[in-house]
Amino acid sequence: MGGNYKIAVIPGDGIGPEIVGQTLRVLDQIADLYGHRFEYKELLAGGCAIDATGEPLPPATVAECQKSDAVLLGAVGGDRWDHLPGDLRPEMALLGLRGQLGLYANLRPAIMYQQLRDACPLKPAITGESINLLVVRELTGGIYFGPRGRRATADRGEEAFDTEVYSEAEVERIARMAFEIARGRQRRVTNVDKANVLESSRLWRAVVTRVAADYPDVALNHMYVDNAAMQLVRDPKQFDVIVTTNMFGDILSDEASMITGSIGMLPSASLGRGNFGLYEPVHGSAPDLAGQDRANPIATILSAAMMLRYSFGLTREADAIERAVERVLADGYRTGDIMSPGQTLVGTEKMGQLICGYIAQGA
Ligand code: NAD
Repeated sequence: MGGNYKIAVIPGDGIGPEIVGQTLRVLDQIADLYGHRFEYKELLAGGCAIDATGEPLPPATVAECQKSDAVLLGAVGGDRWDHLPGDLRPEMALLGLRGQLGLYANLRPAIMYQQLRDACPLKPAITGESINLLVVRELTGGIYFGPRGRRATADRGEEAFDTEVYSEAEVERIARMAFEIARGRQRRVTNVDKANVLESSRLWRAVVTRVAADYPDVALNHMYVDNAAMQLVRDPKQFDVIVTTNMFGDILSDEASMITGSIGMLPSASLGRGNFGLYEPVHGSAPDLAGQDRANPIATILSAAMMLRYSFGLTREADAIERAVERVLADGYRTGDIMSPGQTLVGTEKMGQLICGYIAQGA
């Protein structure tokens, strides 16, 4: 017996509608094969919402997202809206969605596929056959949200400050999420902080260590953030799940992405209470490719696989999508961004069609 799932779909701007279109095609294929029903509600956010309603995140979009089981987002933004003041820019829709939907954890896998080895800037001796790690970043606390300000001083001109604040409750919920996720992977968690210097990190580390006692089957180690930044390029294979604060996660997840070498391949999830989550590719709206059938839809398709895994608990179905992506690469099909000599160049639509075909064949 299949399930019934309500998905809020936000195609957004630039290549968003094209890559989301192919992703819905893949989800339809999964629905057909496994007997599920995915009900899509298409919503406005970003530049197209500014054009239609005057604001980047209309309240109706947030309300519909709240009524859904999960949100699938393409990308927002483009030159056309760059002249607008900060709070009216398309990208404000992303911050608004995170805040209003209570998305407190950001999951970014960094996967280097064997078939795309050449795009990885690290030496084969370092990467081995593949890399597969996951950064779990706290998303709604820490220095990006703590007290901030500017003040005049008597003799040193103006000064400015930002404050890192974390409560036990905030650390505990992100730590639990990391340990739960590690149970479905290699059961290893690396906590990254700066406990040798920061008081907030000392609390963070104490809480993570306490939570670890409830997960005796998961191995925990601690690492200072400066060492973690080095270890990611020195020996990325040592990591399974990295759990860290908002700012450290912001920086380390970008570093981890780079070692895969291909931005068009990277999915992400932002999770809130219960099983609710927002799923989107790491890349932006690539206005240079929009409307030309040249964008790589794989990051968005893999984001949908994360949605099946984390919001709907459909592990078999998520595996089927991920296997199909590996097969399409193994058989030499490439969009322009991951093209190399001797491979077959395909467009956005053909890539979606091929992935559906592999899913149907059981990849
Ligand atoms: P970008 O990620 O859109 O593009 C960077 C480069 O990667 C470009 O050369 C682009 O062609 C390429 N690229 C990106 N996605 C691709 C894909 N799926 N297939 C093939 N090539 C791909 O970043 P940018 O150029 O800095 O920003 C463009 C717009 O996107 C801006 O308005 C920016 O604010 C916005 N943006 C949105 C998000 C989001 O919606 N989450 C994230 C980042 C940037």
